[in-house]
Amino acid sequence: MDQRYSPVQDVRRHHRRLVLRSLRDDGPQPRADLARRLGLSATTMTKVVGQLLDEGLVAEGGVEGGGRRVGRPSTGIRIRADAHHVIGVQVGAGTVRMGLCDLRAQVRSSTSFAFDLTGERPERVVARIAEAASGLMADVPADRLLGVGVAAPGPVDPAHRRNILSVNLGWRDVPFADLLESALDVPAVVDHNVRSMALAESRYGDTDGADPLLYVYVRTGVGAGLVIGGLPFRPGAHGVTELGHLRVLEKGRRCACGATGCLETVVSEPYVTEQLGRRSDNPLAELPDGALDDLVDHLTTGLASAVNLLNPELILLGGIFRQAPEPVFDRVRAALRAKAFPVLRDVVRVERPTLGGDAGVVGGAAVALDSFLYER
Ligand SMILES: [Zn+2]
Repeated sequence: MDQRYSPVQDVRRHHRRLVLRSLRDDGPQPRADLARRLGLSATTMTKVVGQLLDEGLVAEGGVEGGGRRVGRPSTGIRIRADAHHVIGVQVGAGTVRMGLCDLRAQVRSSTSFAFDLTGERPERVVARIAEAASGLMADVPADRLLGVGVAAPGPVDPAHRRNILSVNLGWRDVPFADLLESALDVPAVVDHNVRSMALAESRYGDTDGADPLLYVYVRTGVGAGLVIGGLPFRPGAHGVTELGHLRVLEKGRRCACGATGCLETVVSEPYVTEQLGRRSDNPLAELPDGALDDLVDHLTTGLASAVNLLNPELILLGGIFRQAPEPVFDRVRAALRAKAFPVLRDVVRVERPTLGGDAGVVGGAAVALDSFLYER
């Protein structure tokens, strides 16, 4: 991290980033197209691509994993998705999910474990993460793992080393990156869980370049993450957007954050489960009409504030909404339309997340891929 680079090396690294990002975002393409798109000379492109070919990060030929081609070989350059891997880690309330992911953030193998929220110290949970990561790492050669990305349940420090606070887990200041680096001897980075999910959708999802992109994750609470101008939105010292703690009720319940009437006191999996009177794999599908109306009303009060302040093009509703029936989404869209500012409400779409797998695992992987490859 502290390594210094000469101006020439800086320029090379910059060109390398540009090429890798274009191959990721625009797909396989011939050198000439890359050069034109990026405004680089043919000589520069030959050098950069030559180096990436030597490293095994890219390959000739446009079709990933396609059969042996006969006749004239394609001159297209593509990313070799399996050239390197990262491990994405999602730390949730009582559950950790992890996956070994390729350079397109596709989960290749995964694992998970439950932990005791009241009995297990965060250091112990991180040790168990390291143990499980070792298991996943056994699937790839040591020099083929770029690093680990942790999607943490709350704000992180500006250097992306520590999870400063998690109100739902009762954790403070957990140095995820340092602990994992010393246990595993690979680079590690930590970011806010839902911002990681938003980043993953923006980079690898079927989101059609929507920007700003707001990801809203409803599970234990209501988390939000935002990508603006293609970059994760990290405002201020802690860089979080606490949508779940907008006040939506005048005389509401006490929230884990210490305030009352927060959005997540009336829109969350525990609340819906309480309304249902039993656990369900798809609670929004079973919620009675009146209760669903109230929930949609509160949720869209929060979403309308986000729309009016941030003008998102796309809101992805994940967590318990991922499996919700389409009529639930229709209700959300209609209620949001009635509350948001005229011009802004015409722009915004409300959809389900587009990436498969565990959103937080893919999110952690996306953060690691940005940190250790595409933005490096
Ligand atoms: Zn709150």
